[in-house]
Amino acid sequence: MSKLAIDGGAPVRGAPLPPNYPGAVVYGKEEADFASKVIYSQSPFRYYGPNLQGAVEALENAMTSDLGAAYALAVTSGTAALIVAMKALGIGYGDKVIVPANTFLATPGAVVCCNAVPVYCDVDDSLNIDPTDLERVYDEDVKAIIVVPILGNPVDMDPIVAFAKSKHIAVIEDMAQSCGVRYKGRYAGTIGDIGTFSFQMNKIVTSGEGGAVVTNDKKLLERAIRYHDQGILRHRDRYGIDSPDETFAFSGQNYRMSEISGAVMLEQWKKLPDIVGTMKRHHDRIAAALRSEIPEIRFRSCPDPEGAIGSNLGIVFATSEAAALFNKALNAENVQSYVLYGGKPVYMNPSLFHMRTAEKDNFPYNYPFKRPVTVTANMCPRAVDLIPRTAYIPISPILTDRDASDIIEAVVKVHRALRVFA
Ligand SMILES: *Cc1c(COP(=O)(O)O)cnc(C)c1O
Repeated sequence: MSKLAIDGGAPVRGAPLPPNYPGAVVYGKEEADFASKVIYSQSPFRYYGPNLQGAVEALENAMTSDLGAAYALAVTSGTAALIVAMKALGIGYGDKVIVPANTFLATPGAVVCCNAVPVYCDVDDSLNIDPTDLERVYDEDVKAIIVVPILGNPVDMDPIVAFAKSKHIAVIEDMAQSCGVRYKGRYAGTIGDIGTFSFQMNKIVTSGEGGAVVTNDKKLLERAIRYHDQGILRHRDRYGIDSPDETFAFSGQNYRMSEISGAVMLEQWKKLPDIVGTMKRHHDRIAAALRSEIPEIRFRSCPDPEGAIGSNLGIVFATSEAAALFNKALNAENVQSYVLYGGKPVYMNPSLFHMRTAEKDNFPYNYPFKRPVTVTANMCPRAVDLIPRTAYIPISPILTDRDASDIIEAVVKVHRALRVFA
């Protein structure tokens, strides 16, 4: 048996795998050429310019036709997309929004920035929101559920949409980590009322920063356009909105995407099928090989394996100690593996745990809810239990077959030496 790299043995790989930036590692001539074209055209703003290239509009059109949604609106970040989505739905002070206990800080953070209060739903074995826990956190002040497919793993949408319908509340799909995921044949992000996307560098496709909202509802689109653009409604003819009802006008932000970002993002968007195809092929091969080599290995569950994009292999250990030991040993073999978010539910972040905001009188947490909101460490026990014992191995879209074999070899080597899956 070969000696582990943490014990001074030779690592399985001499060099690390490609960095975990799926979209950025396939940047090339396409992104550079279209971004240059925008610059040479001296027209970096999406709504007018001497020689407008229409990059942002082309991105939105590509998104709607590829995802099968009626409307897409590009914005400046995934956080902006969440805020625009909630403001389109009319969410604000006095409202609660259900978010999963396992997500990035931005999901509940955006709720607070909308002047609403996040309430936390537990997760199931998929590490995504547990539909059977919704009733526990629901009350009449809840206006929406944000679901978050974590690291490429689809959310079980049917029971969530059914629950939301029964309560007449909205479903927002935070697709930041999972662009390209499908559920029962449909693209996730188009199944709820609004889908939000992030194009930040860690995400599946990227313009460094950027985001988008997607919806089939024209009224929501109109409010989204207004909120992202100072409350005004430009290019109405494009959407067939002929006489805007200015009684609905309100103040907004500036979350408009620049043409330079739009140009890079359009070329990235075209690469999404290849990115997903490669990740998925390697993911499924690695998972199958590990299943046969290590029968006791356990992966996070998946409600629709066909629809997963394979950007990360999620391995569930018996204990958080086993997961930590595995990560340490595997990293020494030059194969990256990690636990998400410091192994903690999102509400353990100090701002959320102590319900602190930048506003006076602790607005918006100060709303006199009939059922007061409290945050306690163990309120989502399955998230507390599962997050620190689930390790993720990123699967790059530029992995070679040799790289994939190295991942398999390294996991098997670490297991044989340490029996981490026993
Ligand atoms: C990254 C991320 C966001 C925020 O996206 P930004 O573009 O960085 O603002 C929101 N939600 C989730 C789940 C994310 O992973």
